Amino acid sequence: MRLLERIEEVYAIGDRVGYSPEEDRAHELAAGWMREAGLDVEVDAAGNLIGTRGDARVWTGSHLDSVPNGGRYDGVLGVLAGIEAAERIDAPIGVVAFRDEERGFGGSLGLVRKPDVYVEVHIEQGPVLLRREEPLGVVSAIVGLARGEVVLDGVAGHAGTTPMEGRRDALVDAAELVLRARDAALSIPGTVATVGEIVVAPGAVNVIPERATVSVDVRAPDRERLDALVAAIGFEPQMVTEPVAMDEEVRAVLREELERRDLPAPELVSGAGHDAGVLTAAGVRCGMLFVRSGAGGVSHSPDEHSDPEDIALAVDVLAAALSRLAE
Ligand SMILES: [Zn+2]
Repeated sequence: MRLLERIEEVYAIGDRVGYSPEEDRAHELAAGWMREAGLDVEVDAAGNLIGTRGDARVWTGSHLDSVPNGGRYDGVLGVLAGIEAAERIDAPIGVVAFRDEERGFGGSLGLVRKPDVYVEVHIEQGPVLLRREEPLGVVSAIVGLARGEVVLDGVAGHAGTTPMEGRRDALVDAAELVLRARDAALSIPGTVATVGEIVVAPGAVNVIPERATVSVDVRAPDRERLDALVAAIGFEPQMVTEPVAMDEEVRAVLREELERRDLPAPELVSGAGHDAGVLTAAGVRCGMLFVRSGAGGVSHSPDEHSDPEDIALAVDVLAAALSRLAE
């Protein structure tokens, strides 16, 4: 399949950090493929690559930058599937490769000329479709996220001479916080909570921990559940991003195109951020089509995998959905 050969060609460039010469190279390749597909190519002020045909109010695409030591499909699939789909249909259409998605959505935040509708194909980057044995899924919402750092203070002391009664061990408090975060997320459906970092001071094998600094990362598909989760864990978020719902009509079109092909049409929540979330916040009506991730759902790793059959189905569904939305 030509699409898979192109994916390999981009992957062969190596790590493609946003605005690096390697990302430039990926954009050059994609620009050539856009022209072959009959699109007029331009680069906007943020460096985004935009290929259009006619008065394109409906766009598709994703990003070509990568995390260090990333996989083949994250982002790249959405751009290249978009080019394939654009070539198959007659409607006015735009395909965009956003710059620098991975480090904070530099390209999509900087996009000036916006479409009315944006549809993004992306690998799921998780195991949900794989476990359900379903090739494709429609994203209902992109999670909101709250992050904070909790500092727990105790009293340092000698590990041998301080009796257990009356100790104030900061790391024991941290352990309770970790369990509280897990239990809170388990009790609120659709939410996740992670403690990924704990720094212990003074951090010695024979000293009772005096201070534990604990990171908390929680995510939920809507604001109510996000707030409930934060309250249940009991921490002060230092950073919050709003959950964003995908557009009802775009979701319906994607579901119908799946059903038309006798495929299951599950809806799922994206636990990762995407350019479609940035565009939704800017007033663009967005939808996303997830492609099943293989290899246990791993992503941001060279082991990232999706089956060629699933990718072919995604291009099919995307092309049909775009031509309907562009009518
Ligand atoms: Zn991505």
